[in-house]
Amino acid sequence: MTASRRPLIAGNWKMNGLSGDGLTLAAAVADYYKGKGAASFDMLICPPFTLLGAAGGAIEGSGVSLGAQDCHMAEKGAHTGDISIAMLADTGCSHVIVGHSERRTDHGETNEVVCAKAEATNAGGLIAVVCIGETEAERDAGKTLDVVKTQIAGSVPGGATAANTVVAYEPVWAIGTGRTPTSDEVQDVHAFIRSELAGKLGQDHADGIRLLYGGSMNPGNAKELLALADVDGGLIGGASLKPGDFGAIGDSC
Ligand code: PEP
Repeated sequence: MTASRRPLIAGNWKMNGLSGDGLTLAAAVADYYKGKGAASFDMLICPPFTLLGAAGGAIEGSGVSLGAQDCHMAEKGAHTGDISIAMLADTGCSHVIVGHSERRTDHGETNEVVCAKAEATNAGGLIAVVCIGETEAERDAGKTLDVVKTQIAGSVPGGATAANTVVAYEPVWAIGTGRTPTSDEVQDVHAFIRSELAGKLGQDHADGIRLLYGGSMNPGNAKELLALADVDGGLIGGASLKPGDFGAIGDSC
């Protein structure tokens, strides 16, 4: 972490949460964050679409932000089952995760699609959390930096700034597995991401954009990961469903 970038602790609930447990969780996160007073970090929850409205109500006034896990790139129209940025903004969202590896894998989302979604997010005044990261096979083949470089080139909009974009580095093999890269590896990839962003967007934007690490972050490893110079927060899946663990990660900032 670096003083000039305020850390962001973001929870990706994925396809979890009904009105009972989901709202209890949202209220617990709100209580935790309110109890921090003038917290030195930002907190974001990304519940499933079905809970956005109610979860937004549960966190209202707490300072916790609301985000969605995906969006459609079109403004409106004949896209059955999809959700537009205007709809998400209308529900109280300020952030949208785009290009999560589960979207890339389950729905065949390409870098071009992810970039279009990020651009739509920004055009609608919301902040895109653009996810990138290599698979285990790519890592084993020594291609991590090549993959990340291609994903940044293709998925991050040319108009990305610190105000409208967050980048999350999530090694696919670390998501939900309990495995993480070493701290040195995380820092090396994050520093590389920042240098690629500098080449694409200019040094000022690259220095301001927050880079989150995601992949089995938990209360046991958060402090070490969050202390790395180019890690500006975490995108947290499993541990974000346990308010105690999510709060403990916040406390690590
Ligand atoms: C994620 O899916 O974004 C994630 C990081 O999951 P987990 O924390 O469970 O590895």
